[in-house]
Amino acid sequence: MIRLATVSPCYNEELVLESSVGRLTSLFNELIAKGKISADSMMVFVNDGSRDRTWQIIEEQHTKNKFVRGINLTRNVGHQNAIMAGMMTARQWADAVITIDADLQDDLNAIEKMIDAFDEGSEIVYGVKVQRKADPLLKRVSAEAFYKLQASMGVESIMNHADFRLMSRRALDLLSQYGERNLYLRGLIPLLGLQTAQVDDVISERTAGVSKYTLSKMLTLALNGITSFSTKPLYFIVYMGMFFLFISFCIGIYVIHALVAGTAVPGWASLILSIWLVGGFILISIGTVGVYIGRIYSEVKGRPLYNIKEVI
Ligand code: UDP
Ligand code: MG
Repeated sequence: MIRLATVSPCYNEELVLESSVGRLTSLFNELIAKGKISADSMMVFVNDGSRDRTWQIIEEQHTKNKFVRGINLTRNVGHQNAIMAGMMTARQWADAVITIDADLQDDLNAIEKMIDAFDEGSEIVYGVKVQRKADPLLKRVSAEAFYKLQASMGVESIMNHADFRLMSRRALDLLSQYGERNLYLRGLIPLLGLQTAQVDDVISERTAGVSKYTLSKMLTLALNGITSFSTKPLYFIVYMGMFFLFISFCIGIYVIHALVAGTAVPGWASLILSIWLVGGFILISIGTVGVYIGRIYSEVKGRPLYNIKEVI
């Protein structure tokens, strides 16, 4: 029987928090009765610098409800960092941690399936959105485009998986070795290389409050998702420079032809050729500098070179 901790980041969630605690509590009681989780399991709420009564509610629930624990951050650090704070703290308390948004839009039925998969040996279990009917159209379309763009940039991530997942304590210990500052957990976790499983996650609507993921927060996340895992954009500059050189070669042929045929205006040939040639060299030079910066970037992140599965 595992000791489970759920971790939920909360940013201005006063409207939904009490009902979320209630729903998780009945789920916990059910899972304890079934013998799937131990009675000292817990739900951890991370207050991400809320400006409303969120922390007071967490404190209140903590005194009333034995499952509830709270972590209060000094200021708003964003969803990814708040999750990280919760996971890194809760890994000392539990065998496995499930991250789930405080609004419980994710499928609570999936939690039992995650625990079953964990019992069968998976160290990481991803909740994968099977239908996003409850998400607004714009969000669905932009998410889809984003996953595709990411894949084309060579970032390994699970399609339609947000941050609803189970991780074992071992997986969290490995994750703690990754020292990066720009967190994009969905890209990082597949790098751990542990045994994984997936369960279906049927998204429902927010029962109260509004989305805290503003457009600018989503864009930041999307940019992080690509720039933290791919240096391909830097190589594009080099390729562009090569393309420019190719064009200047074609223009060179055309210029020779014009000179031979006598149709060239004086001064034109040297001008047009040098524009493309110099442009090409400049792009290649910038790109080369960029590629070295890309190397420095990956060194600076200091990611572990390997994770050991077992030693016998
Ligand atoms: N959240 C957070 N810090 C932030 C923004 C959001 O901890 O700066 C939390 C929020 O309280 C919620 C989760 O992240 O538990 C997901 O946010 P939300 O439900 O608003 O996003 P959506 O479901 O619309 O993508
Ligand atoms: Mg939500």
